[in-house]
Amino acid sequence: MKKVSIFGATGSIGTNACRIILNNFSKYKVEVLSANKNYKKLANLAKKLNSKYAVISDSRYYKGLKNELSGTNIKCLSGEDELTNLAGVKTDFTIAAIVGIAGLKPAFKSIDKTKVLALANKEALVCSGNIFMKKAKKYNTQILPLDSEHNALFQIIEKNNSNLIENIILTASGGPFWNKKINLNKVSVKDALKHPNWKMGKKISIDSATMMNKVLEKIEASILFNLNLSKIEIIIHPKSIVHGVVNYVDGNSVMLASQPDMKIPINYALNWPKRTQFNIKNICLKKIKDLSFFNTNFKTFPALKLFKYLSNSKLNYSRLISLNASNEVAVESFLRKKIKFLDIVKIIEKTLVSSSDSEPKNISDVFEIHNEACKMSYSYINNLRN
Ligand code: NDP
Repeated sequence: MKKVSIFGATGSIGTNACRIILNNFSKYKVEVLSANKNYKKLANLAKKLNSKYAVISDSRYYKGLKNELSGTNIKCLSGEDELTNLAGVKTDFTIAAIVGIAGLKPAFKSIDKTKVLALANKEALVCSGNIFMKKAKKYNTQILPLDSEHNALFQIIEKNNSNLIENIILTASGGPFWNKKINLNKVSVKDALKHPNWKMGKKISIDSATMMNKVLEKIEASILFNLNLSKIEIIIHPKSIVHGVVNYVDGNSVMLASQPDMKIPINYALNWPKRTQFNIKNICLKKIKDLSFFNTNFKTFPALKLFKYLSNSKLNYSRLISLNASNEVAVESFLRKKIKFLDIVKIIEKTLVSSSDSEPKNISDVFEIHNEACKMSYSYINNLRN
């Protein structure tokens, strides 16, 4: 039986992973399931999957979780430290599906305790890629991306020919506002959350609307596949059927296509390196009427201009941490209706320009830079509102 832990079990990725595991229950032994606040859903999943531990980060919900799980043998824990401690439980497969930098500590801790780390939490990698990948290499842990684009690239990049890649393409759906005649300064939270193809958590839905999701994904791809940012192109593909393309130097382009359903990459990762029968149909080429691709533009997606602050050849992690921190702060403020949609990128740009260039050497350095950038972003937001 494969021992599995899921950090962020109650989210969109986590719930899909739980469903797949539940449908193949005899193959898995679930060790840890985690949530932030949603103790009822966590308790429900822990009971269904008979997990050994259930951990809730926000300690205010510990009592509720404990009550829900009374009469079971599931061990309940709470708080950020316990969350990180439980990433030290040995597993065969760990899913990092907490949203934002909150997922970094458990994901990082789990690297030497698991064989495969399935990574949805791109923010963790963007903020600590150098340190993260070094640890994975040291402990021979396979980092397997769950993001559909990176999962596609993982599947198609040939290990022996990775130095013969001309460039790679990440496709982007364009989110809810692409190709719409709309005043972006007036869009509501509800409008921005309405993703045309994917049902996801709130933060990544807003990131998709601003295209910050692709900014983070381009950096994620650069770290995972060891490619300069200049070799990674973003192209709009509204149907989200082709997820990634690798152009090799010999004129061959290899692309991967599937239905836009996150269960496909999650199931692939759970079974890797094998493939297995799954209940989602392949795409039918005869039925696809329109497989179009378009250039991105700065007018709808000013976030793409932020690359001018990032060097193509060497990633500056201090900048990346600031970029991620200010995005987290700005998205949260937009969701709370404190700033307008177009303010998100303005806040990020202001924070990036003033960020330091010190290279983080460990995870506590990462959090120090993160906290500083958050403070800066909040003060820009306050200035905007005054
Ligand atoms: P959700 O918002 O749906 O879920 C987030 C999960 O993280 C929940 O379990 C939530 O718990 C938990 N969580 C939130 N904040 C904290 C915190 N401070 N401490 C501990 N746990 C916390 O997000 P998604 O599933 O959509 O996304 C998760 C990650 O996967 C993101 O990094 C996203 O970019 C990435 N991703 C998502 C895709 C998708 O299709 N959804 C596709 C590709 C990547 P609770 O439920 O209690 O709030």
